[in-house]
Amino acid sequence: MDKLITGMSSNREVRIYVAETTDMVDQARAIHDLSPISTSALGRTITAAAMMGMMSKIEQEKLTLQVKGSSDIKLIIAIADIHGNVKGYISNPHAENRFTEDGKLAVAESIGKEGGLIVIKDLGMKDPYIGQCEMVSGEIAEDIAHYFAKSEQQPTAVGLGVALSSEGHVKNAGGFIVQLLPETTETTIEQLEANLSGLKSVTQLFEEGLTIHQVAGQIFAGLGLDDLEEYPLNLKCDCTREKMEKALISLGSVELKTLLDEDGQAELKCHFCNQQYYFDKEALETLYKNAI
Ligand SMILES: [Zn+2]
Repeated sequence: MDKLITGMSSNREVRIYVAETTDMVDQARAIHDLSPISTSALGRTITAAAMMGMMSKIEQEKLTLQVKGSSDIKLIIAIADIHGNVKGYISNPHAENRFTEDGKLAVAESIGKEGGLIVIKDLGMKDPYIGQCEMVSGEIAEDIAHYFAKSEQQPTAVGLGVALSSEGHVKNAGGFIVQLLPETTETTIEQLEANLSGLKSVTQLFEEGLTIHQVAGQIFAGLGLDDLEEYPLNLKCDCTREKMEKALISLGSVELKTLLDEDGQAELKCHFCNQQYYFDKEALETLYKNAI
């Protein structure tokens, strides 16, 4: 089962999040029938959102992470809550595989550098917090680190990875986020930089059989790891028939009447989980009566 741990260095100067998201990313691959490069791109985004969603202290808050690409993949959205529920969408589920010179999937090339990264923190009230910045690499991890530094003035290191089998299934997936708190000392920064520069990729560490606790232990070597908390992560959509009804009503009475007269039925699909919602003539008539 997928999970996330978070903790602090013993001197309370650095916070860490480490997530294993293998099941979620493989479920997303199956739901959206993703090509390998689309699996990798959506998987990295889901993993980052799962960790960022946990940073909130507010029960109802939802975090939306949007990656706006400029190449094959134009848009990726992942939405997470503080309970570890995440849902994801990618505009191009069948993006053509591109490879780097050393034979790895070239996610950065598929996303491109010209787009932007948007983070929305929504409490369901009037004005959500919206932060955004330009992309710096298209690799997603670097772009998120850049976002934290620029938009939230929070020095951050991010690692994300998705490893696929030869059939394109997810062998393992996960990532980490490390954030320096205000007044982190030089000594701590130097130790952390040394640990991170010698660190293998997250997927390699999982491949070698390391747990998320052991990965956190390597990143925080010499710094201690306290206040550990562990949470389950799930790919879970919160769509309902009621929300789809509201979406239909929001079309307005004129549109609904046209739909009723011309099609006599409606089929709506949730972009996040592909669940289909069917409305027959009678159901549409009821909604039309509510809309006028
Ligand atoms: Zn859904």
